[in-house]
This record gives sequence, C-alpha cells and structure tokens, in this order.
Amino acid sequence: MVSSKYISLSLIGILIILLHSVAVQAAMITEIRFWSAPDHARVVLDLTEPIQYVSSSQENPPQSHLELKGVTLFTKRREMEVNDPFLSKMSLIELGEGKVKLILHQKRPLNLNIFPLKPYQDKPHRLVIDLVDLAEEKKEQEERQRQNEIRPKGTKVVVIDPGHGGEDPGAMGPRRTMEKDIVLKVSEKLVHLFVQDKEIRTFLTRKGDYFIPLEQRIKMAREYGADLFVSLHTDGSFNPQARGSSVYCLSLSGATDEAAKILADKENMSNVLGGAFLRPASMAKDPNLNQILLDLMQNNSMKESFRFAELFLGDAKGINHLKYPSSRQANFIVLKAPDIPSALVEMAFITNKEDERLLSRNEFQERMANTLAASIRRYFKQ
Ligand SMILES: [Zn+2]
Repeated sequence: MVSSKYISLSLIGILIILLHSVAVQAAMITEIRFWSAPDHARVVLDLTEPIQYVSSSQENPPQSHLELKGVTLFTKRREMEVNDPFLSKMSLIELGEGKVKLILHQKRPLNLNIFPLKPYQDKPHRLVIDLVDLAEEKKEQEERQRQNEIRPKGTKVVVIDPGHGGEDPGAMGPRRTMEKDIVLKVSEKLVHLFVQDKEIRTFLTRKGDYFIPLEQRIKMAREYGADLFVSLHTDGSFNPQARGSSVYCLSLSGATDEAAKILADKENMSNVLGGAFLRPASMAKDPNLNQILLDLMQNNSMKESFRFAELFLGDAKGINHLKYPSSRQANFIVLKAPDIPSALVEMAFITNKEDERLLSRNEFQERMANTLAASIRRYFKQ
C-alpha cells in the first residue's frame, strides 16, 4: 500500500512537472493588432501567457526588434502592411526553439515603450508596444497651448472627450455596437456644430480609434484652457432592461449610491483595458499649487459642473428617457481637474436593445449633439 501510494504520488509529481513545462512552452501569440494615434503607433500582441522579451532599435533603416521567448505563433497573421505615418509593416518570424521575432518597419526613428497588460474581462494577456514620436507629441502639446494663447478675449473653450478608444472598446451592445465608436461619432457632430461659433470654441481629446489615458485627457483640456470639459459615454448593464440617459459629476466624499460607484469603477478601468503607459513625470503634482486654493477651485468647479449637468438633463428629457431625474456623483478619474467644471454624460444604455438601436442611428446622434450644444450655449449665457 505504502509503495503504490508513493508511486502514484511521484506520478502526480512527474505529471505536474510535465504540465508545468507544457504551460511554459505553450505561450502562444494568438493575435496582433495595430492602432494609430497622432503622436504614436501602438502594436498589441494577444498572448496565452505572459512572456519574456528583449527589445532593440536601429536607425538605418529605422526598425524596432523584439525577440520574444518561450512562444509559438498561433496567429495566421505573420505580416501586416500598415498605412500609418509612423509604420509601414510589421512581421512576425519564427526563429525556432520557442523564439519569435517581431520586426516593426518604421518610417522614422521612434521611442519604444513596452508593457504587459493582464487579462481582464474577455481580454487575454497582452504585450503592448508603443512607438512614440516624441517630437510629434511635443508639437501636439504646443499646438494645444497655442490654441489657448490665440483665443480671442471672452471666448469660451469646451473640450469634448469621447470616452475609451483603441484597445478599450467600452461597453458593447447586443448587436456588438461599441461605445468607443458611438461616442466618437456624437463628439465629432458636436464639435462640428461650433465651427462657425465666434464665442465658443470646441476641441476633441481624441480624433480617431486610439486610447488616451484618463489623466492625459484632463491634461489636454488644461492645455486648451478649457472652461468646460464634457466626457461622452454610453452606459452598460447586466440588466438588459436598464435604459435612459444620465449625467455624472465628481464626488470627493463618496458616490451617490452603489450603482454610481460601480459605474465609476467601470469607467476608471478604462486605463487598465486601454493600456495606459503613464510616465511618472507627467503625473507628478505641481508643488507650487496651494492646497487651500486647490480646494476652493474644486468647490467652484463642482458647483459649475452641477449647473451644466442639470441644464443638460432639462434638455435631454426631450430626446430620451432619463435614467435618473437629477445628476449623480462618483469618483471618476476623468472628472478630477480641480480647475475645470467637468461632467460625464452617459447618453443611453448600449446594452439595452432599444437604446442601442437609438445610439446607432444618425438621427439620434445628431439630436444628442444638438441637445449637448444647446446645453453648452445656455451654460455660458447664464
Ligand atoms: Zn464609458
């Protein structure tokens, strides 16, 4: 009895070792994706396990190389032509002995930022490779600051923030309509309504399908000198019956209720889903800012945020069912600018069949943009 128990135990031991080595060998690249932003290109590898890598860059021709260890290729895509200002092609080459080489053929030298993302919801392990054009990044920032400097006296600036983007699709409808696409469409329509406006100027935080970290969106608003920041979203719920529009403002003390807290947690997960590579310097607090002054600013901003939220709810009644009759509060990262009145609008529930149908329709998107524009105009008039 003793010996057979000993044998079976050691068999289990061998099995565990075998399984373990299989698991180590089994890291597979299942997909390769690409996103294009104004100042960077992003390549994402889907993986069955986290992997080791060594990276290098060369200037002539400009290329970045990643040697990935302990992996096999599972994706059918071995080569991808890319139509982008920064990249022309990506290739994955199997080197044997569990090594795969990723070659990024660039149009110019770029800075590499590589970081892993853990599985979340339906997303597997990922390796994110950002190729940043630092000169372009600086140019974009300077252009935002220039827009603020050249604004005629008395004009108001509104920064419209289409939520999510790129790796982060946001909430998804039963017909697979993605939040990131709808919010971008409405935001573009909204900005278009102000093109001829002499008193109110509007800017977008993102102009395409790429991800911007939440803190970066606030920074952009500040560079534009925003007088109002409006983040556009579509709500999502496990309850397919949940529907209607709602507006959220920042709360420093606590959420309106558990549902508001859950929603804020979900929206804040955007950084994890979308892949936020935050450079420590950009996140450092300004030591010159006086805390009392900051609190005063925050109080005033929050009062103004509520004023906008209530104005919008009054107008939104006319186009969609309201989920809640008044504005709600929670700890949303994207609303945290102490000096800029900020509101987060959940236009409708994309997870509700009827709301999804509305959100997908051009006519509703236009009505939503018109309603937001009317509320913005009234906000600055009062
Ligand atoms: Zn959202």
